[in-house]
Amino acid sequence: MSDPKPESPATPDEITKKLEEFIKNSLGGQVLFTKIENSRSRHTLDESDDSSSPAEEQPEVDFDFRYKPAEIKAYLDRFVIRQDDAKKVLATAVCDHYNHARMLREMRKSGQTDVEFTKQNVLIVGPTGVGKTYLVKHIADLIGVPFVKADATKFSETGYVGGDVDDLVRDLVAKAGGNVEMAEHGIIYLDEVDKLASHSERGGRDVSGRGVQTALLKLMEETEVPLYAPNDMRAQMQMMFDMRKGGSGREVVNTRNILFIVSGAFSGLEKIIAKRQTRTDIGFNSSPAEELSGEMLMRDSRTRDFIDYGFEAEFVGRLPVRVVCDPLIADDLFQIMKCSEGSLIRQFEREFAAYGVRASFEDGALRAVAESAAEEKTGARGLVTVWEKVLREFKFELPSIALPELIVSEALVKNPTAALEACRLLAEEWASDVRATEVRDFAEAFRREHGIEIQFELAAVQAITDRASREGSSIEALCLKLFKDYPFGLQLVIRNSRRTIFTLNEAAVAQPDLFLSELVSQSYRDALPPKEETSLPLPHAH
Ligand code: ADP
Repeated sequence: MSDPKPESPATPDEITKKLEEFIKNSLGGQVLFTKIENSRSRHTLDESDDSSSPAEEQPEVDFDFRYKPAEIKAYLDRFVIRQDDAKKVLATAVCDHYNHARMLREMRKSGQTDVEFTKQNVLIVGPTGVGKTYLVKHIADLIGVPFVKADATKFSETGYVGGDVDDLVRDLVAKAGGNVEMAEHGIIYLDEVDKLASHSERGGRDVSGRGVQTALLKLMEETEVPLYAPNDMRAQMQMMFDMRKGGSGREVVNTRNILFIVSGAFSGLEKIIAKRQTRTDIGFNSSPAEELSGEMLMRDSRTRDFIDYGFEAEFVGRLPVRVVCDPLIADDLFQIMKCSEGSLIRQFEREFAAYGVRASFEDGALRAVAESAAEEKTGARGLVTVWEKVLREFKFELPSIALPELIVSEALVKNPTAALEACRLLAEEWASDVRATEVRDFAEAFRREHGIEIQFELAAVQAITDRASREGSSIEALCLKLFKDYPFGLQLVIRNSRRTIFTLNEAAVAQPDLFLSELVSQSYRDALPPKEETSLPLPHAH
């Protein structure tokens, strides 16, 4: 199909006419086209005879912003490790932005129209994989606005820049489930904007990069983007169908209240900053430029530096809020696995649990992986790469061998092949060890009789079988003796907490009563109401 001309897109009426002709010719007039009618005007006419212009009416936004910067930061702290500057700056910018948007709405309602508002679009400087997207995504989740991410490079590589950039806004509408008003309060996040710099010697895209900057500039200021791409036949058809179904009645999306966050690694910017600092080194008496690290230099970036880097002054000017994200060192990567609520370790545990394998990760293993991942220099993304290599064979094989638990130790990380071989042997032993089977039988009988699921760690099974042979007792008799108070005690725990499965370890075998009483008292502590109301915000349901 030949390219439609962007300058003169067919109007919906023209398309309808053409389609009507085509269908009449090929189907002989059995298909009729009803007149497309704007759903909003239909609605207004149905309700009353009021003939005031319905298009003037702005629908209410079902979105009430009531967060404080510290609340947003506290929420981000649960997921994002480090990047405190970025968390604070983003939290503040987001609050300013949405408070302004709310005030503007309220002022317009009371008839004030000439309100000035400078948008606080944000520029994040930072290497890949350090949490830039993660921060923005969690902010959008928390405040309940749609969020779209794209790489700036994708626009400069195609011919028709303006339309492509507008697609970001249309994607936002799609993310908002077609709710244009929500989309008008969404967040657009554009990564790799540094690639739009127009210095060709830095590998920039020169002319087309500048073109994208101009197109983005329009969006960042305020413009109206057609809801259905005018040069896209399919979008135009979609518009007709939507209107027939009684669509929203909106044909454009206004970008006034859309928050733009752009980012990039900006490698080489530090050299420009250092040069500028040496030129005007008044005020830098204590730390000459060459002694400052790359990140420290980046923190001192000025508008001039971005212009020298290859950006249009107007473009940089539209990004008044700037912040630097730090590279992550091995210890940060360890903390990400250990403490972040979004840690991929939880994900691995769930993946193994789906096959009945209880996986636990030792700190030594996390440290070893963090060290290797740090060498990859791809931030937290390196963690996925390293873990994938370490666990690949385990993920494939463990579901098929009957091994109930996997302890991921430093040794396993350093030598996965040997560890997997040990797992195979253990699984064979486990399967053939009659006494281990008797321990499992006890757990099964316990479940049937008391309706409570208990599991034994491998070390616990070993301890029971050792003790049974030492005492010359049968496994069943020993278990009944050791765990005689468990049916009653565990019922208490179940009543106080939502736990349904109990894992018994070596300590439970050595001191069953102490183990049980700790479980019970912990469950009473958990059941107590919190001492004071915590003000941690919860994410909105979309
Ligand atoms: P980028 O900085 O390139 O936008 P992302 O935010 O997409 O990187 O990070 C990729 C993944 O790495 C995230 O989805 C998250 O799981 C993890 N991650 C990156 N940085 C952090 C961080 N500071 N804290 C917690 N997790 C992180």
